[in-house]
Amino acid sequence: MKYISTRGHAGQPTNPEFCDILLGGLAPDGGLYLPESYPRVTRAELDAWRALPYAELAFEILSKFITDIPAADLRAICAKTYTAEVYCHARAGDRAADITPVHWLEPGRLGLLELSNGPTLAFKDMAMQLLGNLFEYVLAKRGESINILGATSGDTGSAAEYAMRGKQGVRVFMLSPHGKMSAFQRAQMYSLQDENIFNIAVTGMFDDAQDIVKAVSNDHAFKVGHKIGAVNSINWARVAAQVVYYFKGYFAATSSNDQEVAFCVPSGNFGNICAGHIARQMGLPVAKLLLATNENDVLDEFFRTGVYRPRKAAETHVTSSPSMDISKASNFERFVYDLVGRDPQKVAALWAEVDAGRAFDLSASAEFARIAEFGFLSGASSHADRLATIRKVFEQYGVMIDTHTADGVKVAWELAGAVPAGVPLLVLETALPVKFSETIVEALGREPERPADLAGIEALPQRVEVMAPDVDAIKRFITERVRG
Ligand SMILES: *Cc1c(COP(=O)(O)O)cnc(C)c1O
Repeated sequence: MKYISTRGHAGQPTNPEFCDILLGGLAPDGGLYLPESYPRVTRAELDAWRALPYAELAFEILSKFITDIPAADLRAICAKTYTAEVYCHARAGDRAADITPVHWLEPGRLGLLELSNGPTLAFKDMAMQLLGNLFEYVLAKRGESINILGATSGDTGSAAEYAMRGKQGVRVFMLSPHGKMSAFQRAQMYSLQDENIFNIAVTGMFDDAQDIVKAVSNDHAFKVGHKIGAVNSINWARVAAQVVYYFKGYFAATSSNDQEVAFCVPSGNFGNICAGHIARQMGLPVAKLLLATNENDVLDEFFRTGVYRPRKAAETHVTSSPSMDISKASNFERFVYDLVGRDPQKVAALWAEVDAGRAFDLSASAEFARIAEFGFLSGASSHADRLATIRKVFEQYGVMIDTHTADGVKVAWELAGAVPAGVPLLVLETALPVKFSETIVEALGREPERPADLAGIEALPQRVEVMAPDVDAIKRFITERVRG
């Protein structure tokens, strides 16, 4: 499988393969990598995959995207990644061995696809743990090292750090917005004492942190000289890894491959739902993809109107579902590439507008007129909605959900009428409630249960550097640590 860039120039002289793009971030032209074409899954494959354990299903799906790692090695990497020991936080009564069990609220009709049972209690672990093992494998093979530079609004950073901690040949420099994450999220990241992990709290918003990562990565000499790599959601391997649980969820919610499923996805950077889009393009019977935003509704606005209007950092709301406080969705370009008929010139023109701080408007275009073919519908949620949803799910079903998942459930309820009758609707559970206990207490008047292995982490000593959003200062910080 070869990879192209959404803007047309993926590399010279030939298009790269999976391992070539694994350690990088953006394509050289500033676009995002995508497979030359989406592999189509046959009915026979779906039938054969239905009963597979998660790790084997992951191997089958990933081998369609990863053709430059020997099958036995890839199988071993998947087996080592997707274990009940790593994904050990399943709800009482659900099987940890399923890795991503479905927890039904309304049996057969409305369920939670549990994606947050990994070490950092958010769905980012699903891809990041695989990435950690892939990095280790490829770096060892090539005798190389890498310095991962990332920006996080909370969950990406901790997932990356827990996946990379102690890994040979890997350092992690993680930028986070100072004072914008929950106490639990801060404790998770900043309490890591591993020597290869560096936390930088930037005095600004997530988008400022992300802009710094982009600026550093666009400095080609610095990037090459310092072996800078990325694990942000633009990383193709993360999207590929996320495709797997859409299949797993589909199999869990159906008894035959003649049935369809709908998914509702709490969204920020469009990474999670992008994987759902790709699963659907591969032939998974997905009736609808419901996209849920919080008050930062740039994606909801696009799917309702055809206008993509990224917001400035100052217009970004700080919300109680902070991992979705995104106003420029970094993976959205991958979907738009498909929407405009995989035409890189069109994408490059649209993102020339975005990169200049402007909006683009597809509302009158033939492409947007066909958006229904992609199965997307969208909705938004507010703080009041979130509280009401957390309460209602707890009262009605005795299930505690986190604030992001609540945004998903709110939009799922709102749009359920657009899902064909008899089609199960799975809301992707993107974090466990204990990560956002302040809001849970506000909604329910009680603390969420905390897994025993995470008791008291807020009291641990923290290791973090507070810095201004200054590209040069952050480059110097990296240089000093890398040159040691
Ligand atoms: C990252 C994250 C999201 C948003 O996912 P995207 O891939 O950025 O759309 C939603 N919920 C939680 C808890 C997250 O950590």
